[in-house]
Amino acid sequence: MPIRILDATVVNLIAAGEVLERPASAVKEMIENSLDAGATRVSVEIEDGGRRLIRVTDDGAGMGPEDLALAFVPHATSKLEKAEDLSAIHSFGFRGEALASIAEVARARVVSRVRGSELAHEAEAECGKGAPVKPSAAPEGTTVEVWDLFGNIPARRKFLKTSPVEAAHVGDVVTRFALARPDVRFELRSDGVPVATLPPVKDISERVGHYFGRDLRQALVPVEAEARGLKLTGYAARPTFTSHNTRLQFTWVNGRYVRDKVLFRAITEAFSDLVMVRRAPAVFLFLEIEPKDIDVNVHPAKIEIRFLNSSRIHDFVRDEIRRRLMAGGVPPAFVPKDAWGSFVNQTPEQRVADREQSLNEFFARPADQPVFFTPPPGKAAMPEPRDIPPGVVDPTPPFRPLTAEGRAVQIHDAYILEEIPGGFNVIDQHALHERVLYFRIRERVLSHDVARQRLLVPAIVRDTGREKVIAAARPLLDRLGFEVEEFGPGALAIHAAPDWIGSKDPAGVVRDILADFDQPDPGRAADDALDHFIATCACKAAIKAGDRLAPEEIRALLNERGRVEHSQTCPHGRPVTLRVTLDELEKHFGRK
Ligand code: ADP
Ligand code: MG
Repeated sequence: MPIRILDATVVNLIAAGEVLERPASAVKEMIENSLDAGATRVSVEIEDGGRRLIRVTDDGAGMGPEDLALAFVPHATSKLEKAEDLSAIHSFGFRGEALASIAEVARARVVSRVRGSELAHEAEAECGKGAPVKPSAAPEGTTVEVWDLFGNIPARRKFLKTSPVEAAHVGDVVTRFALARPDVRFELRSDGVPVATLPPVKDISERVGHYFGRDLRQALVPVEAEARGLKLTGYAARPTFTSHNTRLQFTWVNGRYVRDKVLFRAITEAFSDLVMVRRAPAVFLFLEIEPKDIDVNVHPAKIEIRFLNSSRIHDFVRDEIRRRLMAGGVPPAFVPKDAWGSFVNQTPEQRVADREQSLNEFFARPADQPVFFTPPPGKAAMPEPRDIPPGVVDPTPPFRPLTAEGRAVQIHDAYILEEIPGGFNVIDQHALHERVLYFRIRERVLSHDVARQRLLVPAIVRDTGREKVIAAARPLLDRLGFEVEEFGPGALAIHAAPDWIGSKDPAGVVRDILADFDQPDPGRAADDALDHFIATCACKAAIKAGDRLAPEEIRALLNERGRVEHSQTCPHGRPVTLRVTLDELEKHFGRK
């Protein structure tokens, strides 16, 4: 469609223009225009965080001289003609305001060559004044340059942050588009330095891996669902991967990046009781919905949105994520959130309803579906039941009285069965010990109170070829109470070990930690990295499935439980305990 000026009635139907806030908002508008023009390559260059220059180059459809003359005129757009079109918008733009408002606060220049045409043209607009279109030379596609943003408005310019901060905002904008459009090649350069070079890829999961690392990519579970005019695609990360804020929750509605509380609530509820308190899951989700079901009066330049039927959307998104997570082998909500604490505070009705529901879910599972979390390959799996040669008495008696409150016994060298008033617990010994250690280590590290034990002879750990990993892990190892020293390339000498490793071999623990430790992701906050590191250490130092426990060890472990926060999940968010009540047993065996 050629660019035309919208008539006043249509203009009035659209919410009033958004002021450009910062360089990143201009970059967003410019990339949207490139994608609207069908670009397969978008390159973004900024100087001084975008304050001095923003240049976006694409290989899209381009503009001819007539269109160029109109591009900077307010309400000039090629994407909308009449009011009815408003309810069927499939492009990012339609208001014809972006270039006009950019030109009002900056010097802007466009060079463009229509696909298949011989000649390029350019036009320059300065502070709202148009300039004549003249012939130029350029490849097919469009380049838009924005110089000295807010140069004419010192008050606005003053509010811009430092150049690295503004550049980071631009980076975020590019990331959101790059995640949504894996088929498009994106490039970002800041002050001449390449920040991102993303060739087109088949699937968004590759870009997730590029930006956020292999761990997250491997945790992704695909989500795909469709129901009455709603479609949800993308990925949710298994609850083993969480973040300390909603930074890793990306949602798009009809291709537009949004941050919406209805969607966030749906995501939180889908993961409820699967992730630890104060941890947020990671998702990359695309919702498609009839344009008529979204309120167009909420300005599309904002990342907010207003759904006309929000509760249906909320339920759909929550249920579909949940369904996919469960299908991926994550345990059902069989472990009630109140596993330890508020059990007694529930009303009897709630209690019965809860148990009934979890029991139904439990028995409704197909027999081949694991009840417990399936450990990732390579990690300690539940051991095979031990073969006991005939004639040999199994040294583990079936039940061993342990505490005054009840009895506890280890089964399959992996789980502890604990008798409790009104039922019994099945406890994953590794998960519980991991949680206990995580809590203990964290508490000590944060209060700088780690007790060290000197080793008589330093233990040497060698990991050739991973010098960088070792160098990056060293300060963290130190905070955790290891005294380590570089010992030639790719090797560490351990002089002292923290007491929390118990009787484990210090070199073995460090080796395991290093094996799991990748270069810290630079985007990850320092405390998040430390948390992650502590979780890894706890995992490595914890007893494993397959470790036989002495009765005193079982008792000590169960006793620790009360002193630890969130003892119902391990640091990865996996449940620690499966609780079965007598009620459930009685129902199951038809006694009720
Ligand atoms: P809108 O996107 O709402 O239409 P803009 O002010 O962003 O308004 O752009 C005005 C018009 O300029 C667009 O409708 C489009 O026709 C044209 N245009 C802007 N950028 C490009 C581009 N990169 N490639 C092709 N056409 C463009
Ligand atoms: Mg636009």
